[in-house]
Amino acid sequence: MARPSTWEATFCCRALHEDENRRDLQTYRRLRLLCGPWAVRRDAAEIHSKLVQGDYVSVTEYVRTDSLEEALALLDEHGYEAKLLAGGQSLIPMMSAGFLSPGILVDVNRVPDLDHVTLADDFVRVGALVRHRTLELADADLADAFPLFPTAAPLIANIPIRNRGTLVGSVVHADPSAEWPAVTLATGGVIRLISSRGERVVPAVDFFLGPLSADIEPDEIAVAVSLPVVPARTGVAVMELTYRTGDYAVVGVVAQVSLDVAGAVDDCRIALFGVDATPLRVTEAEVAIREAGIDHLDAAAELAVAVANPASDATASAEYRRDMIRVYCRRAVRAAMEKARLPETRKRWRRTLSDAPNPNESLASGPHAPDVGTHPNPIASF
Ligand SMILES: Cc1cc2nc3c(=O)[nH]c(=O)nc-3n(C[C@H](O)[C@H](O)[C@H](O)COP(=O)(O)OP(=O)(O)OC[C@H]3O[C@@H](n4cnc5c(N)ncnc54)[C@H](O)[C@@H]3O)c2cc1C
Repeated sequence: MARPSTWEATFCCRALHEDENRRDLQTYRRLRLLCGPWAVRRDAAEIHSKLVQGDYVSVTEYVRTDSLEEALALLDEHGYEAKLLAGGQSLIPMMSAGFLSPGILVDVNRVPDLDHVTLADDFVRVGALVRHRTLELADADLADAFPLFPTAAPLIANIPIRNRGTLVGSVVHADPSAEWPAVTLATGGVIRLISSRGERVVPAVDFFLGPLSADIEPDEIAVAVSLPVVPARTGVAVMELTYRTGDYAVVGVVAQVSLDVAGAVDDCRIALFGVDATPLRVTEAEVAIREAGIDHLDAAAELAVAVANPASDATASAEYRRDMIRVYCRRAVRAAMEKARLPETRKRWRRTLSDAPNPNESLASGPHAPDVGTHPNPIASF
């Protein structure tokens, strides 16, 4: 085996375990504890010394591409051996800790047009290279259209990580304790995937399959996540229990409440995160609030507790997590409701006119269509 450079040795290694551990929640939680910055550095140093001794690691190939066609061709050619690199804020720690060992990294950071946020046809479309920080600093129009951007983004890690990490990467990564998967699920977002076989649009409700497991094939690229623009009189909240600022949530709740002109609840959307193998939409609790109003918040919170299946781990017992779902669910819905009553939420999102072709064309016929192969040349429509 050729001796790798320091960079390759540190960041690009085929390491100790194979990724069949991915579906095991306990293993993943352990991995996350390992993945604090110091642990990553320590681990990288250990792997580096083993590489230098010619031990059991081999080097991952790294390709930086500036076209979607090339990226798709590489994924096609290498299948499960390839991993797409977006912000690298989950992938690189997993590689450093030895839990992932792709044969080839396909870096798409120079692919044009993936870093746009587009408002059109009552959807906000977030491209694959839009960073957490961009959404945190959303301008007034964007925040008005989708207030969960500036609400959820500041809760993710810290600014350097938010400068690199992407919403789409987070959704694809499917961490059950992450904010964006829960936001996408709560609001009825859809994930747009392309491959050389065609394009698919998958609703969030079908996308999350388990911890770090989502409905995406190895040859597919998620080019965007589309999220429905909120109606007037909508308030949102993300409430989470963390032990340190920026940590992953021990228990988290996303709530979005819309009121009608008379001030009654017109729509209520709630998703939990950190309490099960995937983010969870708690529709029974939503219906209870829609039908009986905020006065029945306690009963709705009990319905949310009943749906979740939390695990005990180093951060909290399952019982404590259940208690906290109750508490944070009540807090999140109440906070969203209060915001929905504020005068500024009465305005409606103003449609942004654009000469560009409709980027959500595939959504026009509903989130379940079209399926694989419906578009012969997906890049042309991108
Ligand atoms: C110390 C630390 C703390 C963190 N804390 C939080 C937190 O509190 N909350 C939180 O939500 N996140 C947290 N994160 C994760 C961070 O939000 C990541 O940015 C995010 O999970 C992944 O986005 P990324 O762009 O970095 O993806 P990458 O790391 O580049 O990729 C992640 C995975 O998704 C795949 N992928 C990425 N983009 C695409 C695409 N467009 N198409 C197909 N596959 C794709 C990659 O192949 C890889 O398997 C933390 C990360 C670190 C290092």
